[in-house]
Amino acid sequence: MNYTLWILLRIISIVMLTQGLLIFLTGYNFVKGQGFIKTKFDLSIFLSGIVLFILTSLLKSKTKRPIEFAKCPKCKETFNYNDTLDGKCPNCKDVDTMDIKEYYEKFPEEKIE
Ligand SMILES: [Zn+2]
Repeated sequence: MNYTLWILLRIISIVMLTQGLLIFLTGYNFVKGQGFIKTKFDLSIFLSGIVLFILTSLLKSKTKRPIEFAKCPKCKETFNYNDTLDGKCPNCKDVDTMDIKEYYEKFPEEKIE
């Protein structure tokens, strides 16, 4: 799943939950430009927020953060991900680069800094 989309869904779910909770506790809802408006609690919005929140939690493991730095396991060169050829090393051509964090988890002995 696209990371940006995931973040967006997570934010929407949190907004729904916060608003739902606010209305539930105070009977008022904050509307942009109008301030606090007396609002009837809408359970369906609150439940949708919960469902969306659970859904994004389940999708979290399937969502990959964009890789910022990548390292080539062959020539040991570190690249900005945008400088790789669709994730492949620009020097070695057919070698897949790895996320730098995963790389050092796999080869901790190479970490010198
Ligand atoms: Zn390489």
